[in-house]
Amino acid sequence: MKQNEGLHPDTLAITSGRPMPAPDAPLNTPISLSATLHAGGPLGYGRYGNETWSALEDAIGALEGGPTLVFSSGLAAIGAVFSLLPVGSVVTASDQGYSGSMALLRSLEEAGKIEVRYVTVSDTEQILAALPGTALVWLESPTNPCLEIADLPAIIREAKSLDCGVAVDNTFATPLNQRPLQMGADIVAHSVTKYLAGHSDVLMGSLSTSDSGLFGRLENARKLGGAIAGPFEAWLALRGLRTFPLRFERAQANAMEIAQRLAAHPMVESVNYPGLATDPFHDRARSFMDGFGAVLSFTLFATPEQTDKVCEASKVVMYATSLGGVESLWERRRRWSGESSSVSESLIRLSVGCEYVEDLWSDIENSLQSISQ
Ligand SMILES: *Cc1c(COP(=O)(O)O)cnc(C)c1O
Repeated sequence: MKQNEGLHPDTLAITSGRPMPAPDAPLNTPISLSATLHAGGPLGYGRYGNETWSALEDAIGALEGGPTLVFSSGLAAIGAVFSLLPVGSVVTASDQGYSGSMALLRSLEEAGKIEVRYVTVSDTEQILAALPGTALVWLESPTNPCLEIADLPAIIREAKSLDCGVAVDNTFATPLNQRPLQMGADIVAHSVTKYLAGHSDVLMGSLSTSDSGLFGRLENARKLGGAIAGPFEAWLALRGLRTFPLRFERAQANAMEIAQRLAAHPMVESVNYPGLATDPFHDRARSFMDGFGAVLSFTLFATPEQTDKVCEASKVVMYATSLGGVESLWERRRRWSGESSSVSESLIRLSVGCEYVEDLWSDIENSLQSISQ
């Protein structure tokens, strides 16, 4: 990755993960469809490595600042992290996070494999108090779906001083807004499905770590777990990553505008978006993040049924789960039984995409209007 030194992330997203230049060499790494490889090399077999994965890994690694492994989905990557924990390990984790990660932690706990200490991740004192004896701190910030911000620098510093492992799910913030490895985290996880790939057409996950021993153990977990990415999917994700900084810039600007307008709307009870000066996490986010992301959530003065109707009424914003694509998506989070009961029944999570902001706003206004007659 030497040729990457000193380059801006906007450039790295475009220049990294390319084949070595040579006359008539392709600019893009091909989709390498081969289950096995000629003997004698470092890879050897299609479950151990693939040249298309490597290109994507170089590109994500350049942005996160550490060697990277890609997996078949975000949850496969997260599962590989938890698979390294010895039986009986204590995990300290946010009580509000991606529902799949929460469900996975609960299932490991119920199977008697780990003990989980759930904390309010934005409450720094509470989380610091839970650290002694913790093997792994699992952090997600901003949180899903309430956009709370954890004081990552303070938590990571204290966790490392106590020798706790630290993993950060950086899906919402992306490496453009925060780089947990630089703060001292051991592992950064991504649902590449979201912003990095960015087109809602591929599922993929990644783990980045600067610790070579840990990298080897995670790579082994991938080999043995078999949750490997398809070469075509890796190629799609890398193609998407080339425009990630451009997409993210537009989506964040749209999100800021929509958050401000929602906050002034009479049907909206509250808006969660750390970019708003009135948001309780605004100052903390500003202190270490380079941007506020493009996911926001808001609560309506409405019943859950009316809230569902708002989501169904939109024409530009699509009614679907997930986030991070070029298209705006929204949903009432509590329509999922796995969503935390601490989340309001009338909360809509909106992943703001790259459409023209006035088209988005008219659509949102019309959808809100649809239940007010
Ligand atoms: C979507 C998501 C995941 C899971 O990723 P998949 O690619 O769907 O497996 C994990 N963490 C966060 C924060 C997510 O948004």
